[in-house]
Amino acid sequence: MILRQNMAINYEGPFLFLLFGNERVVLIDTGATADAEYFPLRREVDELIEGWLGRYPRDGYELLVLHSHAHGDHIAGDGQFSDRADTTVVGADLNTAWKYFGFDGDADAIARVDLGGRVLECLATPGHHGAAVTFYDPWTGFLLTGDTVYPGRLYIQDWAAFTRSIDRLIEFTDDRAVSHVLGCHIEMTNEPGVDYPVRTTYQPDEPPLEMTTGHLREIQAAIEEVGLPPTRRAFGRFILCPNV
Ligand SMILES: [Zn+2]
Repeated sequence: MILRQNMAINYEGPFLFLLFGNERVVLIDTGATADAEYFPLRREVDELIEGWLGRYPRDGYELLVLHSHAHGDHIAGDGQFSDRADTTVVGADLNTAWKYFGFDGDADAIARVDLGGRVLECLATPGHHGAAVTFYDPWTGFLLTGDTVYPGRLYIQDWAAFTRSIDRLIEFTDDRAVSHVLGCHIEMTNEPGVDYPVRTTYQPDEPPLEMTTGHLREIQAAIEEVGLPPTRRAFGRFILCPNV
């Protein structure tokens, strides 16, 4: 299931993902708002899990909370899950996340998260953020790229690391079936190269979230085209925004 936080509550309007396996369900990211009164993520997730378990009853079903990266608009709701039974919240910070995925020993490893009959493959993809993770779900073919790749401003904190992460994603997806590349925000308009201003909370003319592996190649070519030193440049479905 794909969830999106209401932009009227927080302009970031981040997307969140809830993937069900036989033994556990994973929630990837917890949104931009901590307060359950404004952003009742826990209640929503509990209802969705309850509904799913009504259709596919089983005992001891667990919730695992992981993150695309540690920026505030992806982790703010973590606290809503701290007292939930049968729940593991893995911290998004570099040390905690890297230890969980095993990237502390080998940053190039492909980590596997077994949901029961559904095994996610996870890659360390730093560049936007040092602890950025990309998830591949073979069940749906989704490549969940967090803030590394999405239709918007790709804020690049570490240009070299970002370049390498895009190269790795292209290599990784070469022999896997990818239905959609799904990031965590939409900031572009339907007009190529034109984005909504930061803090926009109403986007009637936004393009769909889903991108393709072809866009990964477009980003690779864009990186090459921009060259060094990196500068901000708009392309059709994304804008490269190096943090300089
Ligand atoms: Zn974000």
